[in-house]
Order: sequence, then C-alpha cells, then structure tokens
Amino acid sequence: MDKMNKRIIISLLLICNISILFSQVENVKKPKLVIGIVVDQMRFDYLYKYENKYGNGGFKRMLREGYNFKNAHVNYAPTVTAAGHASIYTGTTPALHGIIGNSWFDRYNNDIVGNVDDPTETIIGSTEVNDFGVSPKKMLTSTISDELRLGTNFKSKVISISLKDRGAILPGGHTANAAYWHDYQTSPGYFVSSSYYMQTLPKWVSDFNALEKSNAYLNTIWETLYPIESYTESAADANNFEHTIGGKRLPTFPYDLASMRKRYKKKYTEYQLLWATPGGNSLLTDFALAAIKNEKLGSDESTDLLNISFSVPDAAGHTYGPQSVEIEDIYLRLDKNIETLLNSLDSNIGKDNYVVFLTADHAAIHVASYLKEHKLPTGIARIKQYRDTLNMHLTSKYGKKTWIQYFEGDQLYLNRAAISDRKLVLKDVQQEVADFLINLKGINSALTSHHLLVNNYDNGLRQAVQKGHHPKRSGDVVLVFDPGFIQNSDSTVDVNAIKGTTHGSAFAYDTHIPLLWMGSGIPKGSSVRKVGITDIAPSVAMILNLQLPSGSTGDPLQEIFIKKKE
Ligand code: ZN
Ligand code: ZN
Ligand code: ZN
Repeated sequence: MDKMNKRIIISLLLICNISILFSQVENVKKPKLVIGIVVDQMRFDYLYKYENKYGNGGFKRMLREGYNFKNAHVNYAPTVTAAGHASIYTGTTPALHGIIGNSWFDRYNNDIVGNVDDPTETIIGSTEVNDFGVSPKKMLTSTISDELRLGTNFKSKVISISLKDRGAILPGGHTANAAYWHDYQTSPGYFVSSSYYMQTLPKWVSDFNALEKSNAYLNTIWETLYPIESYTESAADANNFEHTIGGKRLPTFPYDLASMRKRYKKKYTEYQLLWATPGGNSLLTDFALAAIKNEKLGSDESTDLLNISFSVPDAAGHTYGPQSVEIEDIYLRLDKNIETLLNSLDSNIGKDNYVVFLTADHAAIHVASYLKEHKLPTGIARIKQYRDTLNMHLTSKYGKKTWIQYFEGDQLYLNRAAISDRKLVLKDVQQEVADFLINLKGINSALTSHHLLVNNYDNGLRQAVQKGHHPKRSGDVVLVFDPGFIQNSDSTVDVNAIKGTTHGSAFAYDTHIPLLWMGSGIPKGSSVRKVGITDIAPSVAMILNLQLPSGSTGDPLQEIFIKKKE
C-alpha cells in the first residue's frame, strides 16, 4: 500500500470513528411515562448522610441504576418553593417565568399576591365553600408539561400532584389535565383541585377521598422506623434546635398523632399535622398510585407525564431542622415510598417504558442556633431594624415622606410616586438605599434594579440575583445577606433561640440539590459537572423530542444522552 492510500484509509477510519462518536449521542427509546419527583427542601447530602439505612429499592436504586448529577444547583435567588417548581418545569428562572417568590408585592395594586392566587377561580372538591381560588396564570412562560400537551395535539396526559397547591399547579403548567393538592384546612383532608381544570372531581378522586386516608394516617403513632439509638447520623432527639408541635412539651418521639390532633385542632387545622409527619408522604404516594391506575398513565403511544411533589420534607425541615432524628426518619420512610412507587411502575408500566427524575425545589441551611453552637458563621438579618434605620436616613436626606412602599425579606420597593413628586431620579434613590444598607450588619450586598437591568452578571451571587429578578415584580433594591445569616422580622430575637431551618439564599446550603435520572435509555453514571435546575426541562424535551418550553434558558444534560459502549 502506498503512502497516499494509507492516508486515505486513515482518514476514512477517522471519519468512521467520528461518526461512531456522534452515534453515541442518540435518541433514547421514547418512554410511555415520565415521572418528575420533587422532594421539597431536599439537600444533596441527604442522599449519602442516611445511605447506610436506606433500602435497596428507593434512593439507592436510583443511584445504582441511574445517573447522578452530584453538583446540581438552583441557579438563582430567592430559593423558595414556588420559584423552584416553576424553574424545574419551565427550564428558566424567575427573571422570565415571573414566579419570583411564594408571594410578592404588587407595586401597581399596592398589595401582596400569592404565586397561584386567582380570585376568578374556585376550589373544586372541598367539603366547604372556599372564597379563594388558584391557577397557574401568574407563570409567564410555558412548562415542559405544556410542550408535551402541545406537541402531541393534547393526546398526552399531564397529572400533577402535591400536598401544596403550588407544588402541583406550577409543574403542570397552563395545560395540565389536572392538578390536585391536599385541603388541610378542611375536614377530612381531601385532595382538591381548581375550576381552572374542572368543574367536579373525577370519580376516582372522589372515591379516593371517600376512603378518608388523612384520618387514617392521623390516627397513628409516629415512632422511628428503626430503634432510635441507631440514628447516629443525627443529633440527640431532645435538643434546643427543634420546634415542638401539636402541644407536645418536647420535640421527641413518639409522636402520638391521635391525641395530638385533638389539642392541635383548637389552634390550627389538625390535618396540617400530616404535613410535618411521614403520613403526608404516604398519603401522596397512595394518591400517585391511584392516579397512575385510574388515569391509565403510560398505557398508550402518547407519552404521559406525572408530576409528584413531596411537601412533607419542607414542613418537617422548618419544624425540626436537618440535624434532627425526625428528618432522618422522614427520609428513611420517604425512601420506602419511592421504592413502592418504582416497584409499581416496574410492574404496571414496565421497567423500560418510563423515565423518572428526582430533584428538589431548593435545599436548606442547618438551624442557625445549631451552627452557632458548632462555631460556624451565622446570624440574623433583622429586617425591621433595616427598615427603621433606612426610613430615618431617607427622611433626613430627602425630607419627610413615606419613601419605602414595602420592605420584607430581601426585596425593597420604593415609593415611586413620592420619588417623582420630589423630582428625584429613581436610580439615584435606589443607589442611595443600596449604599446605606450595605453598611448594616448581616448584609453582604445590595443590588439596585437599575443595575440588574443594565448590567450582565455572568457568575456568582450577582448573577443568581439577576436571574431571580423580574423587572415588573421584583423590588427596587434586592439584598444579599451574609453567608449563614437568616432573615427575621423580629428585631430582638437571639440567634440561640432560633428553631427549625429556613431557605431562600443564593448560597450553596440552599442551592445544592439532588438530581437523579433513571429509566428507559438513561445510562448509569455520575458527574460532578455543575448543572442547573433549569437544565431539567430541556432534558425532558430532548428525551421526548419536544420543542423547548417558551422561556427555556437551560441546556440539556449531555451525560444522560450518551450511550456507553459495552
Ligand atoms: Zn420548597
Ligand atoms: Zn427531636
Ligand atoms: Zn420551605
């Protein structure tokens, strides 16, 4: 063979190799059902912290058989439930989908609005008449649920369930067949929906409700799954970092829910007890299985989507904190719920016919008093104090007027009418406020909406704030608190008195979430590449050959499309 021929053959071989490389990125077999699982407030480390006690069929099965993104993050602030659920399913951040918080201040109507509030709709299926309604209308972009519906001429079914209304409504997008959530305020704790989707509950939901499972789960005693002495991954059961619930004197096992509900009834609604105890997760799992069966999900050629959001881990985290035996036990039992769900999918849909992803809407910080006890940086961002001193400063600088229209948490809205009245320039007053606040204890930085609109921050905290900032809905000044600091409106509370966790910041303790994929065509493996919560919806779009959601800014996760050669 002469040199020339050799060269041609080598280059032909190279081309072949390249085409082999490309063929590794191939379309996976289209699944019949996609299941999105959101574990509200799940930290990434919970996958490993309790690993020795998990069974083989839940979290560990997903780690073993699926793909694990170990460095997945919420890529904006504030890291709260409504924004998280909207971002997972829209593939974009509050700057575009507009769900900037669980609630926000509406500067045009001088009022606070909830993320799914909708006075034009009513609640369907509650035993009481409700005068408040809900819908996804405040979400400004489409979700992957919508693209699936649009892409199959509405032949695909989308069902969305959670204990929280927002945990069900936002993932379902604008065109879900149905969203259902837990009516904890009304006896006997039914699953309900909105007139946005339907006028009456389908028979299978009414039948499920008639079983009164909320009562059944409340008439139990919550004890640890394993002997309590074996919970060595957590702090002692009795400690000062946990709230007590249901009139108990100490935050300790056992939780006799049957007697607690009687005391709890007087002050709150008894069914809310289910939100901070494992029964709530089991209730939702039962409902998920009923939905798959009765809606015949995954039974025909049009791929269906089931969105499940487990709300209990969030309420429980706020109550007991990440160090608690209670949280550990809730995850050990949730692991069993997930095993039940996966086993049912195997036998009813078939192992190769579904894809499941599991993630969280945000994570959470350790309890501030616990951090303090262990010498870690923490403190309290005292919002009321900030508001009072800023008020005095603006009055002395610009004269007596109500300069602050609204200031809660990290969002500050200026009285724009007063500013134009005095012929002041809005961006100058914003900067004055930012420069003043940045000197106060607990504040790391303060960004003006002017700066957020004219600059382009390409990394770090500023980018997170920018991606969470919606020009019409967000404040004139957005605060970033010091790492480890939690916000509190009580100006006197001591950090040692803080109980339970919280979340909302752009720091890793709040942003670092699990992201697992498993099922049809998903390879085994793990990656430490930094990926965002907004990469989930584009990945589902690629699996199902759909158009990206309208505001999508994330990128498909390449790793789950690469077939490893055996
Ligand atoms: Zn949440
Ligand atoms: Zn405890
Ligand atoms: Zn929360």
